[in-house]
Amino acid sequence: MSEPLDPGALVDGQGRRIAYLRLSLTDRCNFRCSYCAPAGPDRSGDPLARPELARLVRIFAGLGVRRVRLTGGEPTLRPDLLDVVRDVRATPGIEEIALTTNGHALGTLAEALLAAGVSRLNVSLDTLDPERLHRIAGRAASLERIVTGLRAALRAGFASVKLNTVVVRGENEHEVGDLTRFAWRLGATPRFIELMPFGPGSPVPTAEVKALLAGQGIALEADATRGWGPAHHMRGTTDAAGERLAGLVGFIGAMTEGFCESCNRVRVSADGSLRACLGGRDRVALAELVRAGASDADIAGRIRAALLAKRDRHHMADDAGGLLPMIGTGG
Ligand code: SAM
Ligand code: SF4
Repeated sequence: MSEPLDPGALVDGQGRRIAYLRLSLTDRCNFRCSYCAPAGPDRSGDPLARPELARLVRIFAGLGVRRVRLTGGEPTLRPDLLDVVRDVRATPGIEEIALTTNGHALGTLAEALLAAGVSRLNVSLDTLDPERLHRIAGRAASLERIVTGLRAALRAGFASVKLNTVVVRGENEHEVGDLTRFAWRLGATPRFIELMPFGPGSPVPTAEVKALLAGQGIALEADATRGWGPAHHMRGTTDAAGERLAGLVGFIGAMTEGFCESCNRVRVSADGSLRACLGGRDRVALAELVRAGASDADIAGRIRAALLAKRDRHHMADDAGGLLPMIGTGG
């Protein structure tokens, strides 16, 4: 039986309860992942200022949002990141804060992030080959530095550390087994994400990734673990060269699986616009409302209306040409 719905809770047009906010803190990034960041310099729009972010989070919390993920662009590029985290932490109603990062700054920031209130980390890493990493994410991406950051995060003691890998055909599908073993050895959970059409590259469907894992020595069996978002999990084991490892593996089948069925998320992109659906074009310029002096009730009303207009599922495969680059939306 589902929980009785609080009459004030945020629901979308399909009756899905929205309790998870993904907040993009910047559309700048020190990496240039081909599937995420368009070529050329970063946009230099006005990101939401710290007090604007704090106010929006308070309004969302009043509407029933309980979990906030801070993302970007690269959120660790924001000089006021720790203060932003503390503001979110201090917001009544917010129960958990997660952060998604490319890992570049974690070596120095991991402990401070935990102390400020982040309890869950997702770190993106598509390959264990330094040269391939340069090709995928640009020359600034250093495998050594990301691994140092991951180790610092695992030492710091976050409730969960996940390793996000976007699987791109012809690029890294032969590494899914090694990435899984690497994550398990560290104490992290590997997750494989289907490429979404925000840039070049060809996706590898989740069903095929599972077959590749089996072929690369990872035996998988069903598991019911769910996280905050759309990932489903399987339990895996591997027994190679005398080393026995086991753990969960997450899958986000954004293009071929039921990514939308249990959608519980709403996004605010780096330019301060509300995005009811990652794969839609509809936006509400929350930043403009805030800067024009709109009341909390007006802003809450616009948020509710936008979510009521949300479609049952994304149409990314048909609309690819009209999508905002992922770097601005935050994934
Ligand atoms: N810079 C941070 C990072 O890389 O983790 C946070 C922002 S990034 C946009 C968030 C997530 O979106 C990353 O895990 C990234 O791999 C994923 N992503 C970006 N573009 C994507 C695409 N076209 N398809 C699937 N996932 C994508
Ligand atoms: Fe930057 Fe993250 Fe996008 Fe890569 S995926 S370009 S690290 S925002």
